[in-house]
Amino acid sequence: MQRLENCTAVVTGASSGIGNSIAARFGREGANVVVADVRREPKLDDKRSVFDKLEECGADSLFVETDVTDETAVEAAVDAAVDEFGGLDILVNNAGIYYQYEAHETPTEDYDAITDVNLRGTFLCSKAAIPELKNSDNAKIINLSSIFGLVGGGSSAAYCASKGGVTNLTRQMALDYAEDEINVNALAPGIIKTAQNVEWRENDPEILADWEEKTPWPRFGDPEDVADAAVFLASDESDFITGDILSVDGGWTAQ
Ligand code: NAD
Repeated sequence: MQRLENCTAVVTGASSGIGNSIAARFGREGANVVVADVRREPKLDDKRSVFDKLEECGADSLFVETDVTDETAVEAAVDAAVDEFGGLDILVNNAGIYYQYEAHETPTEDYDAITDVNLRGTFLCSKAAIPELKNSDNAKIINLSSIFGLVGGGSSAAYCASKGGVTNLTRQMALDYAEDEINVNALAPGIIKTAQNVEWRENDPEILADWEEKTPWPRFGDPEDVADAAVFLASDESDFITGDILSVDGGWTAQ
């Protein structure tokens, strides 16, 4: 039996990387999938389109061009999901951006951009989705935090601030919607091989060596590692888990 049969999911930022893998896994588990992204094609040219993957497994899907910082666009994405599939069960707040600067070197517009997409975007999408999730028997919100939402690191002050916000927004929404039986949890990935870090992985041996040393497991993560955890949090197997931040980090935060 498929674990997400009869469910409809909106996955933000699902054209690339982790979101692409989550959307494809959800499709394979029987969900209808709405891809809400600013772009349709994956950021890395060698990666497969999420729509090809969804078609391959016979899942119904819909692309809604969505900037998660735009409240009207986010509301339209939720409306499109409900119009197309008759309801909404799962929201994955995955869209995110990453810049690497220490605080005193961070251009203020980059600080604003990163908190806008990563934190305010998570808030706006949740706000738009919750009234629909209240009608679902399998209502789940999964936020993408990070190891840098749990500990400092990466010389990325703005990113750490945004993901720390996502971590605690997750806990508060879990409390607010427990009565409504909406599970709200977060995933905190470690270093996962995507476009977000390809530049450093391929061109900066110093950072690469540092990250390898900080990852006890003898490899970095793949998007599929995060997708496996997302399926668990999206399914009824996690019905009594809420307000949790599940690390998918090869032991980074165990130290
Ligand atoms: P990615 O860059 O590969 O993909 C991000 C996707 O989000 C892209 O398709 C992009 O178009 C989309 N996006 C960006 N801004 C958007 C916006 N304003 N509105 C809608 N879509 C937008 O990144 P990834 O590595 O797959 O990261 C996914 C999530 O996981 C992010 O929240 C990221 O911070 C988090 N994360 C990633 C890692 C990692 O090592 N890759 C680690 C921890 C957490």
